[in-house]
Amino acid sequence: MAFQLHNTLTRGTEPFVPLDSAGRRVGLYCCGPTVYDFGHIGNFRTFVFADLVRRFLEYRGYAVCHVMNITDVEDKIIARVRQTGMSLHDYTRQYEEAFLADSRTLNLLPPHHRPRATEFIPDILALIERLVARGLAYQAGDRSVYFSIEKYRAAGRRYGTLVRLNFDEMRVGERVKNDEYTKEALADFALWKARVPEDGDVFWPSPWGEGRPGWHIECSAMSMKLLGPSFDLHLGGEDLIFPHHEDEIAQSEGAGLQIPGQPFVKYWLHGAHLQVEGRKMAKSLGNFFTLRDLLGRGFTGREIRYLLLTAHYRETFNFTLEGLAGARAALGRIDECLAKLREHAGPNPPSAAPEPGLVERFGAALDDDLNISAAWAAVFDWVRDQNRLLAQAALNPAAAAAALAAWDRIDTVLGVGAAAAEADAPAGMLALLEARQAARKDRDFARADALRQELLTHGWIVEDTPKGSRLKRAR
Ligand SMILES: [Zn+2]
Repeated sequence: MAFQLHNTLTRGTEPFVPLDSAGRRVGLYCCGPTVYDFGHIGNFRTFVFADLVRRFLEYRGYAVCHVMNITDVEDKIIARVRQTGMSLHDYTRQYEEAFLADSRTLNLLPPHHRPRATEFIPDILALIERLVARGLAYQAGDRSVYFSIEKYRAAGRRYGTLVRLNFDEMRVGERVKNDEYTKEALADFALWKARVPEDGDVFWPSPWGEGRPGWHIECSAMSMKLLGPSFDLHLGGEDLIFPHHEDEIAQSEGAGLQIPGQPFVKYWLHGAHLQVEGRKMAKSLGNFFTLRDLLGRGFTGREIRYLLLTAHYRETFNFTLEGLAGARAALGRIDECLAKLREHAGPNPPSAAPEPGLVERFGAALDDDLNISAAWAAVFDWVRDQNRLLAQAALNPAAAAAALAAWDRIDTVLGVGAAAAEADAPAGMLALLEARQAARKDRDFARADALRQELLTHGWIVEDTPKGSRLKRAR
């Protein structure tokens, strides 16, 4: 079976065939964070999902161009900027930097392009001008520019490709200026929002007067600029299906830049919601966790990544602290097996081709719409088999090396390899480790030892290896 994916556009599972006639290059766009606060664990479920898609495409040999935007101007951000009195730039940069640090903690591969909406204003304006010229957008009495759903439909286009919409409910002439609204508020949506006093300093000149872009047009402009008017995969959380992604399709296809017959996006993939401790996340319920809250409770990025990767992306997943403790135990079993295999392979293991059993079963599982549960089942069956062979002394060094090579191969997708463990040590712990190295260099062994003890009281063991010292979490 070749790689197949569930496409929200067709509501079915389809073989993945890239638009590239050579079948090699793949364009992937994932709606990125709105940088108005620290990312919560629900946000990161989507980004771990996008990372899995990208890594598996690369595993299957595709040359992926991965774009993830940074939404650095929209309604929620403007409200916060107004409350804090900071500039838009200073306010959003602090959360963008926090997001990038959190992404490293979760071992997310950096996208090839990370466009900021505020740096694509000329492209956004050009796209709106094109929609106005084609009669699909108009400036209303409030001086804002809106997308006309009626004109779009009259041009023979379908609005409501990702969701079913009831147009009888729609009253002609109604408009919605907010970036977020529900199906019940179906109306012409804002492409360009005329400047109002509440916007403060956040505005740009435009052919329609000063103002700022709507959220939906930002993604259309940035994705088409970087990936072309038609590209393969567009990802996001399921809460973005309407209106955000529906509006992206209308704007992008309304601009008519595609080769006739080609869609804006071939495959739409949506990740399901995350519950925390059995309920929808809410600050009032005490189950609202940013990534940083969980690190503060002593969990590592690696454990959080593992837990987020255990559920299929289209299933609602219940994230619990108990689940995180289980993640630690599961990773411990993998680590222990790998350590034994390494010992068995010896200090200079023969170079080995990956043992095919694990690699094939793992790949076949993910080919089936990223069936990650079956992929983990393959991993843990393999761990059990390796442990049995080791216990029976039935594994020679070459076989151990081949087993390790198989793990390394699949870990390019999972990204939970043991090496990630040291990167998870908090900065304060890494500073203590550095101080210890310095003490050792100065031959102040008493101080080095005291620092080693201090790290241990924080739960970190210093491992001295031929390649240098590193931290390992004490169990
Ligand atoms: Zn978007």
